[in-house]
Amino acid sequence: MDDPQTSSKIWIARVPRRFRTRFPELTPAEWALMGRILRMYRARMSLMYVSGFVDNGDTRMGVLFRRGRRVRDRRCGRIFPVREIRYVAQHGTWPDPVYDFVAEYRAIRALVRAGRIDIESHGDIHMTPFLNEWCRQRPIPPDREHLWMAEFYDLAFQRPVPRGIQRRRLARSVFRIQRYFDMRPIVFAPPLHAYDTVTVQVAQRLGFVLLHAQTLYDLSRSPILKIVRLPTVWAHLPLAGRPDPHLDASGLPIVVGWHDSDLRIHPVAWLRHYLRVFIQRGYTRLIGFRAFAGLMTARVAARYVPRGPDGARIQIDLDIAPTGGAGDPDSRYFARHAFPLRAHLPGGWRVVHGFDKSGRNLDIIRMDTAQWEIRVPPFGSHTRTRVILDCRRVRSRSDETPAFPATRESHS
Ligand SMILES: [Zn+2]
Repeated sequence: MDDPQTSSKIWIARVPRRFRTRFPELTPAEWALMGRILRMYRARMSLMYVSGFVDNGDTRMGVLFRRGRRVRDRRCGRIFPVREIRYVAQHGTWPDPVYDFVAEYRAIRALVRAGRIDIESHGDIHMTPFLNEWCRQRPIPPDREHLWMAEFYDLAFQRPVPRGIQRRRLARSVFRIQRYFDMRPIVFAPPLHAYDTVTVQVAQRLGFVLLHAQTLYDLSRSPILKIVRLPTVWAHLPLAGRPDPHLDASGLPIVVGWHDSDLRIHPVAWLRHYLRVFIQRGYTRLIGFRAFAGLMTARVAARYVPRGPDGARIQIDLDIAPTGGAGDPDSRYFARHAFPLRAHLPGGWRVVHGFDKSGRNLDIIRMDTAQWEIRVPPFGSHTRTRVILDCRRVRSRSDETPAFPATRESHS
């Protein structure tokens, strides 16, 4: 979900229909309900978060409070930590003139602590970094006014944002999110999906693992890998609930994207219906970006060793160092969660025993006749482990069970 706590939704009034601004912010009760729905479906959600509040400096339009105190020295372009801000609009028509980002922040933090959502970066301010021009109200056609909301490429006037400014804005977002939520972001979605090659490099330098903007970039590798096989399904009407059978049959993971504004079209309970639609369509895991980044970027090396005519040992080395951890080991999802490793064996073979390098027995679940899932315990502060699987051929009467390859290594 994109955009909670974004100040540009207050300032930019004229937007195309699909954008929507000036809607009431989600309430703590609505966030709590969302948490219950996510728990019900064992789903995890990534919140693409905006950490800085930009003031428009207009004292006639509304009153700004920081840490409960009225801000007297209002100045356009000044940036505040959003979690400390309450804004009360006074002129114009507002469905709800109160933007209580303090209360909303607390509700979001409760869900982070309960393990229901992860916080990732959606930029620091979701606004042009050329704030002087915005404050001077550099003229822009009314139908382009919403393009001020792009932070990492200037869509309004079609020009790149200098590298140093991009780095400062993104670093500020990392710093604030870590401070607010005790969680370092590892996925970055640039606002309005506006970015250039510099943005991708800057994100990699700052320790991000994935950049997602319709296209996915795997930043854990050098050179950076661009991955096109990750379709995004936006939950916006009228797309919501319209299944694509080809996509469902493809076996590809999909990103389901939506905005907080969607929950002003549908009630929050709609999320329950929406998750159920995906489960009925055959999607089995509703994971967040952080778990996805862990699965995408972990390094796995497997080696087969035959042991007599009916036995084989698979040695799997797992390295989760690339999955996060720049300055914060906890940003590696599998530091605290079991790693689900899938082994596909030739027909007639089965895993009889699995253990890790310290000799601990591992949980092994048979998924179907040829697939086995091994639950590798959370890595904690370590990044590497070795898993040993002892496999056995179960001879059938016809005895056509294929043998394991003599020896083979594979890396991914
Ligand atoms: Zn956005």
